[in-house]
Amino acid sequence: MPRNLQRERLFSSREIQKRVAELARTLSRDYRGRELVLVGVLNGAFIFLADLVKRMTIPVQIDFVRLSSYGSGSESQGRIKVVKPTEFPLAGKSVLIVEDIIDTGLTLDFLCRSLKEQDPESVRICTLVDKGERRKLPVSIDYVGFVVPSGFIVGYRLDFNEQFRQLPAIYRLIAI
Ligand code: 5GP
Repeated sequence: MPRNLQRERLFSSREIQKRVAELARTLSRDYRGRELVLVGVLNGAFIFLADLVKRMTIPVQIDFVRLSSYGSGSESQGRIKVVKPTEFPLAGKSVLIVEDIIDTGLTLDFLCRSLKEQDPESVRICTLVDKGERRKLPVSIDYVGFVVPSGFIVGYRLDFNEQFRQLPAIYRLIAI
């Protein structure tokens, strides 16, 4: 891991809040009249999910999953297990997975398949950041906050070794 890190700001706090508000408007329109369950992926997505829900204008149920991928390093290892499953019954519901960032797609591919076993009406994905560079599985992402082609992203809850979580903006880390 690099010892000296600089960061380049990609999106300000104001830009993030504006984009989250736009997504909340779109979701409120698309899911009006349906039984929507937001499934946040812990820990990364909780601030994004909270900001999103505060701005939505339709009723929503909120549930969380926590997953772990075996192995170490900054990339998903492909062997994923559920550490905390969802708690609400999802049969017949419109499920929207809320994730902070999608990288290889392995985590979301696993989670989609796992939630579909409960026979929901639909399973869609909303991510704050879509980082396509290292995609290994073609995950179909329905709602995207920001597209970032590459790099390691921190801030707005995203961390690097537990650092930078508290930053209100989103940054790309640069090793020097
Ligand atoms: P995937 O299975 O799509 O490769 O992994 C997604 C997970 O990896 C995210 O939920 C996040 O925890 C972590 N991750 C992937 N890319 C980044 C990144 O650029 N910055 C941070 N902080 N986490 C990342």
